Amino acid sequence: MKRKFWFIVIYKYLLITYANGEIEGRSLDGHEESLDFGINNINERREIPIQNSVQQNPRYRCYSCEYSDCYDTELRKTHLCQNALQCWKSTTREVNGIVRVSRGCTTHDKIPFCLSNTSAPGKPENGRYSIECCTGDYCNDGDFPEILDFHEDDVTRGQIGNDKIKLSMAIFGPVVFISLLAIVVIYFMRKNHQKRLLATRSKQDPETYYASDDLLRATSAGDSTLREYLQHSVTSGSGSGLPLLVQRTLAKQVTLVDCIGRGRYGEVWRGIWHGENVAVKIFFSRDEESWKRETEIYSTALLRHENILGYIGSDMTSRNSCTQLWLLTNYYPFGSLFDYLNRMSLNHNDMMQICLSVANGLVHLHTEIFGTEGKPAIAHRDLKSKNILVKPNGVCAIADFGLAVTHSQVTGKLDLGTNPKVGTKRYMAPEVLDETINMKCFEALRRADIYALGLIFWEVGRRTLSGGIAEDYKVPYYDVVPNDPSFEDMRKVVCGDNYRPCIPNRWSSDMLLATLSKLMRECWHQNPNVRLPALRIKKTLLKLASTDSKVRLDYEEECV
Ligand code: ADP
Ligand code: MG
Repeated sequence: MKRKFWFIVIYKYLLITYANGEIEGRSLDGHEESLDFGINNINERREIPIQNSVQQNPRYRCYSCEYSDCYDTELRKTHLCQNALQCWKSTTREVNGIVRVSRGCTTHDKIPFCLSNTSAPGKPENGRYSIECCTGDYCNDGDFPEILDFHEDDVTRGQIGNDKIKLSMAIFGPVVFISLLAIVVIYFMRKNHQKRLLATRSKQDPETYYASDDLLRATSAGDSTLREYLQHSVTSGSGSGLPLLVQRTLAKQVTLVDCIGRGRYGEVWRGIWHGENVAVKIFFSRDEESWKRETEIYSTALLRHENILGYIGSDMTSRNSCTQLWLLTNYYPFGSLFDYLNRMSLNHNDMMQICLSVANGLVHLHTEIFGTEGKPAIAHRDLKSKNILVKPNGVCAIADFGLAVTHSQVTGKLDLGTNPKVGTKRYMAPEVLDETINMKCFEALRRADIYALGLIFWEVGRRTLSGGIAEDYKVPYYDVVPNDPSFEDMRKVVCGDNYRPCIPNRWSSDMLLATLSKLMRECWHQNPNVRLPALRIKKTLLKLASTDSKVRLDYEEECV
């Protein structure tokens, strides 16, 4: 064990010596002038005896012991050594934790470890030690030196710390990097996916599209966004009205203000919805079929049009155990064309504006649009001045679709609905009155609408000024049938007598009114096959408008 200790000590000495390179005289043969271990006091270092003078230096007697003997005071008296250059005492701690102590004499070959009287802690590969050397007889008595932590420990600890950091970085660095990369990639993939999803939805399934993304937009941001939503569906030409889920709460959001009209199916109120005026048509509960039909027709894809009443939505609620059927549309303060004509006389421009816009709306209604997002052809079946509304700019919009019928050439389907009601008798075409109409033929229904359009033109013509004169407002056949005429009354006049509204003489001297009278005759012709289609009427009116320099149509270009 003692041999091992010294081996360790020498090993440590060589290690420090060569590592520091601070030893000026390296030979133990006695040619060095000074030695520096870097751990000793400089002053004391100067007193260190050099090898040459070893022989002349005083010699000492020292205690000598190993292990447990060292604490035995009796043995200490007998275990001695002499002729020492210095005495030493040391403590070693082996790797297994066992601490051993020893004392002894320093001979010249071991002096490097006792170059000073201070302790020389060290850490050989296989343990730790601490040594104290002294000069003087038996000076190595007393307590053994403690094992001090050598600064190498700190260095090692620091290195271990550094190594730990490096190791952690080596492990966690790539993990963190890969995780961040994955997050970024997933984020962009999801965005891309959402974009594609929206694109496909809007292409393939407009219903779903509106019920999800736009619904969220609409409900979260209040009225302006709902308006935007409606605007969006106008410009995109998609199905009209709000998403169904929004519609389900409409009744709760509306405050009814005043009753503006009474029709066959119920009442029409002006209401306030998100701070804006709306028209609320409240159906009698017995007229659920009309409500259903109108809701269905307004929800038709691509129905939205400048000359069709703007639809907001429908709601069915229960109040005081009564079913309430609501239909919300844009509100037009001028009311129906019937109301308007009763109040106002028209100049040529107003007349053309009204006639063209009604014809334009009817063209849109009657026309089937083909394609994946197509629109069926629609016959109104209750066209009259009370079912046409006048917008603030003098342009008209067709309303009241409770009796409308749809037809698609693509599917060959004619949807008559289940409403048992029939149109307004006063405006019924002769083939409807004499019941010769083929209800399964959509074209026949379209032609019955044209008949009614002829009567509307007559109502408008009467109120149009020429030479400062206009007739009073009158309903068609006012002169030959009573108020609220019966089916029979109408049939007798229209079918039996082949009677049509009178055209005042003054019209013939007014170019526009004269042409309009010609047009209306072609519309209400007894023979449905002779009646003009809506598109032809529209084109004739447009041509007529272009011949009068005073006529300026707001939407002329759009109509061409
Ligand atoms: P009905 O199916 O009962 O005939 P209508 O839809 O024709 O109901 O409306 C009846 C009346 O209410 C119209 O003639 C018109 O005077 C008025 N009205 C309807 N809708 C509106 C509206 N959006 N803006 C202003 N007045 C309207
Ligand atoms: Mg009506």
